[in-house]
Amino acid sequence: MTATGATWRNWARTESVRPLRVERPASVGAVQRAVLAAEASGLRIKPVGSGHSFTGIAVAPGVQLDLADLSGVVDAEVATGRVTLGAGTPLHELPRLLAPYGLALPNMGDIDRQTIAGATSTGTHGTGLGFGGLATQIVAAKLVTGTGELLTVSETERAELLPAVRLGLGALGVLVELTLQLVPRFVLHAVEEPEPLEAVLEGWNDRVRAADHFEFYWFPHTQTALTKTNTRLPGDASRKPLGRVSRWVDDELLANGLYRGICALATVAPGVTPFFARQVDKLTGDRDFADFSPAVFTTHRTVRFREMEYAVPLAAVPDAFREVRSLIERKGWRVSFPIEVRVAASDDNWLSTAYGRETGYIAVHRYFREDSSEYFGAVEAIMRAHDGRPHWGKMHTQTAETLSGLYPHLEDFVRVRDELDPGRRFANAYLERVLGA
Ligand SMILES: Cc1cc2nc3c(=O)[nH]c(=O)nc-3n(C[C@H](O)[C@H](O)[C@H](O)COP(=O)(O)OP(=O)(O)OC[C@H]3O[C@@H](n4cnc5c(N)ncnc54)[C@H](O)[C@@H]3O)c2cc1C
Repeated sequence: MTATGATWRNWARTESVRPLRVERPASVGAVQRAVLAAEASGLRIKPVGSGHSFTGIAVAPGVQLDLADLSGVVDAEVATGRVTLGAGTPLHELPRLLAPYGLALPNMGDIDRQTIAGATSTGTHGTGLGFGGLATQIVAAKLVTGTGELLTVSETERAELLPAVRLGLGALGVLVELTLQLVPRFVLHAVEEPEPLEAVLEGWNDRVRAADHFEFYWFPHTQTALTKTNTRLPGDASRKPLGRVSRWVDDELLANGLYRGICALATVAPGVTPFFARQVDKLTGDRDFADFSPAVFTTHRTVRFREMEYAVPLAAVPDAFREVRSLIERKGWRVSFPIEVRVAASDDNWLSTAYGRETGYIAVHRYFREDSSEYFGAVEAIMRAHDGRPHWGKMHTQTAETLSGLYPHLEDFVRVRDELDPGRRFANAYLERVLGA
């Protein structure tokens, strides 16, 4: 199906574009034809997922591909836990799709709105030192290259390309199928509680190693960290889900509704932020519940924000965090959104933010109507001094030149790009900035 492009905007409203054409292929052959047609007319082409990247990584001024019709389970091997999904499958459909097989993703991020191809292509991650980002679960991929060929990359076919293709920034081809190594469905026991921030920072190393999934939020202008500790239990463990009312009060009213009020008010009267931050601080926390993993890992985010997230070596987190806290105090900024701190295992995907090192993530947010440039710029300088790597889907200002020292395989990745997309059919301004022309 082809349509003329209406204006596309990403979730955070940081990017917009009016593609010349939008195509919605319903088969692998149709994706190949779309790439060849783009080549014939000298246009660039780019698949878009759910538009949840804050950067311009998904911007497609030429042909935009919507893969909503390449979605769902293509193949499932219950014995090995390997499932092949259409690349456009949204994560929020996985619990329903995987229920017949009793399988689940081993880890997830904060939301489930992304597509599987979009999430893995930017290095989306959750938290937990025993777990890599979502892309580490990919054991095979099928993609249409820049010359329209269908390429299979797996442990037995072109295996040397796997560390590039698993997390390819959308630069190597149009992924049409991804095979993931999943785990038996499991229950998570969640404990969320406010704790003194300094104690959390001092115990950082032990806390992240003791828990399956540990993270914390800090609301600037308070002394409190809201910690979240999730423990994995078998799939038949008893569940104590959050009641619908409790989930609504906590997630909608506090995490979203109350924020909306604070953020809107703070844009006209910034002085109110510390007062409201302390109220949020008093109201949130102290939850103890257990449910199937997707319901615990993910929440709904209805207040729009902008985000920058940096991956630093795990041990650098307390120092880097304290520097950000001092910065906010020194500058007297009124910051209404919390800072989120998470962890991940080291992995071997060439462009993974956790490549080759145990990693801590520090994420800063700002209400989408506020100017985030000064705050994010100053935090970015701190992160860079700690060898930080920016999340590919979140705001940052780095370039191919500044990134090359951070990724030992950046040149290898560009070599794979030269092979799979010699004409730069999948390029856009963001990829030119971070990978070069
Ligand atoms: C509210 C919110 C919460 C978030 N929480 C987290 C979090 O907890 N952890 C985290 O790490 N990140 C998080 N993110 C970031 C988000 O996970 C990533 O930006 C992710 O890439 C978005 O997926 P998407 O489907 O929207 O992809 P898009 O943003 O639409 O696209 C991302 C990239 O994937 C490429 N792509 C999409 N489909 C294909 C395909 N079939 N073949 C090849 N390339 C393809 C696009 O071309 C583009 O380059 C969050 C973002 C938001 C807005």
